Amino acid sequence: MNQSHVHPLKLGVIGDPIAHSKSPIMHQAALRETGIAGEYKALRVTPDQLAHQIAALREEGYRGINVTIPHKENVMRELDELSEEARRIGAVNTIINEGGRLIGRNTDGIGYVRSLKEEAAAKLEGRRIVVLGAGGAARGIIYALAAEAPERITLLNRTTERAEALAQEWKDLADIEALPSHRAAEAIQHADIVINTTSVGMHPYVDEVPLDPALLRGSEIVSDLIYNPLETRLLRQARERGCRTHGGLGMFVYQGAYAFEYWTGVPAPVEAMRAAVLQDMNGSPEIKS
Ligand code: NAP
Repeated sequence: MNQSHVHPLKLGVIGDPIAHSKSPIMHQAALRETGIAGEYKALRVTPDQLAHQIAALREEGYRGINVTIPHKENVMRELDELSEEARRIGAVNTIINEGGRLIGRNTDGIGYVRSLKEEAAAKLEGRRIVVLGAGGAARGIIYALAAEAPERITLLNRTTERAEALAQEWKDLADIEALPSHRAAEAIQHADIVINTTSVGMHPYVDEVPLDPALLRGSEIVSDLIYNPLETRLLRQARERGCRTHGGLGMFVYQGAYAFEYWTGVPAPVEAMRAAVLQDMNGSPEIKS
């Protein structure tokens, strides 16, 4: 439904901390660009305030709410309905208020895949994908990658049991295997796409890499969810070895783009959103969703 003619849209993001969130800048740019009247606020909500605040936002007629750390899991119990992907991923980053009914969705995974396809790998079908990490972000992206019919997804994680549990949980979705990190060379040898979903290499630990770059042959696409810095050490070294690389900014932009589209029914002005975030980042090294 296009809400733009109803009344100014009330939108926001809840989290703690929230002061450095780039979501308000990005969504304000989207509202401006599309000419939709509305406001997007950053709302600091502590865990003990979560239930009360969700009720208050419903009462105040908020149309859309993004959810970030530390509420993505706990917010689920405050909602009326969960989409299939949010239920299976076990986390909500976007709430849509449909006439007082709060629906939880997860746009992180589909946002990542849209970014990967637009910016680096148009076709994921039949590809062999290696995913480093098995945390919250990995769950979202693996779920979305599985829908693209890759030949195989291989998970490598510091804690092998966590990767094994995930491969077992989602064996109905795709051919997913978990390997211990010491078998990284074997996994990378057959990979078309390597994706870092760990926090290794993120500001301020910018000299760290989640994988020995010497394992890369140069023909892989290497992707990193981190966008602070925009080019991680892993991406720089991969690029220097001849790999095509893909950073995490697009994931942030497209998770927001899907949310904006759910709330407004209007195609998200992706380039204006990306430009607003980039412009803001030039003035600040601290980034949070
Ligand atoms: P998380 O749930 O805490 O998971 C962290 C993952 O990183 C786990 O697999 C963990 O392995 C691994 N890890 C952490 N420190 C490590 C180390 N020193 N060596 C090896 N592995 C290590 O975090 P998350 O929410 O998934 O976030 C992960 C990254 O994704 C962060 O950098 C975040 O900024 C990024 N992200 C980006 C976007 C975006 O929009 N671009 C969105 C969400 C997240 P163990 O299981 O062994 O602990």
